[in-house]
Amino acid sequence: MVKEKLIDKNNRVINYLRLSITDRCNLRCTYCMPEEGIDFVPHSEILTYEEMLHIVRLSVQSGIRKVRLTGGGPLVRRGFINFLKGLYKIEELNEITLTTNGVLLKEYAAEIKACGICRINISLDTLKAERFFHITGRDYFNRVWEGVQEVEYLGFGPIKINVVAIKGINDDEILDFARLTLKKPYHIRFIEFMPVGKQNSWSYEKFISTEEIYKQIQTLGALKPIKPNPFDGPAQRFVLDGGKGEIGFIGALSNHFCNSCNRLRLTSEGHLRSCLFSDQEIDIKTPLRESKGDAYFLDLIKLAIKNKPENHGLMIHGPRKCVRRMSSIGG
Ligand code: SAM
Ligand code: SF4
Repeated sequence: MVKEKLIDKNNRVINYLRLSITDRCNLRCTYCMPEEGIDFVPHSEILTYEEMLHIVRLSVQSGIRKVRLTGGGPLVRRGFINFLKGLYKIEELNEITLTTNGVLLKEYAAEIKACGICRINISLDTLKAERFFHITGRDYFNRVWEGVQEVEYLGFGPIKINVVAIKGINDDEILDFARLTLKKPYHIRFIEFMPVGKQNSWSYEKFISTEEIYKQIQTLGALKPIKPNPFDGPAQRFVLDGGKGEIGFIGALSNHFCNSCNRLRLTSEGHLRSCLFSDQEIDIKTPLRESKGDAYFLDLIKLAIKNKPENHGLMIHGPRKCVRRMSSIGG
């Protein structure tokens, strides 16, 4: 097997692939998906699991070492567990992780663990059932919370909880989430609200920077920094005095971490994307279905890396909304 490192023109080593396996979802988070009028990608246009495995194998040859499965709601796609088993067999993939809204987690947690996957990110923006309904359009808070407890019980770790902080929506719960890390081993990660997707409700008024969140949490006690590791991604990590868990900050807009971005994304319809905020994509599915050889795809992967923008430019040119919605890119 060819072993090479993928290094882009800005000297970043690209070793992390985010794979959106479906654009469908069982929630309708107001900041991500409207309740009505969504043009889902037809099933025949979504990459099959075989096609995804093929691309992951080639990506691994090109230096990818970590894959995150995301969506949409990855657990809603039929056959997901068999796909995980297939992924797990790919040698030299050091890490397979999963991002989920947690709705189906309780049902699938044991099977996911049996596939060898125990690192998980669960998106949960509130600890209040009524507010959960308001944010997601579905009355599933208890299901998600039971899912969180199930993965803890089964020994998953780390259990990361992604909280998109939005002013006027859940900013009054920042300290509650931070306090949770005193009792539980969870890694709470506060994510800045991003202007992604045409119908996203982003505005300056709703935006809270990670710096503001950090300051609020300091009122609970000192935040001790944690040394980063190479697969950490963009979160700046801390622990509260006496904390069992961690607190992370993902300053997607304010603290632009593009100079350490190690990511490549593959959308569920088979487009390679080298930056979350850029709508530049490379169609992988068409040549896959034309049965092009491996060398062709290795070149496409290199091309995607070569074209990776130096940074998202949002702080220079101001927030703009990229066209594709978050659910089809996978976050
Ligand atoms: N459905 C899964 C979930 O919610 O975990 C996976 C896909 S979701 C697109 C991945 C992550 O992106 C979630 O943590 C979600 O909260 C986050 N996200 C979605 N839209 C966002 C936005 N506009 N700004 C910041 N984060 C967003
Ligand atoms: Fe679904 Fe995740 Fe988007 Fe919410 S954020 S609608 S859970 S894809």
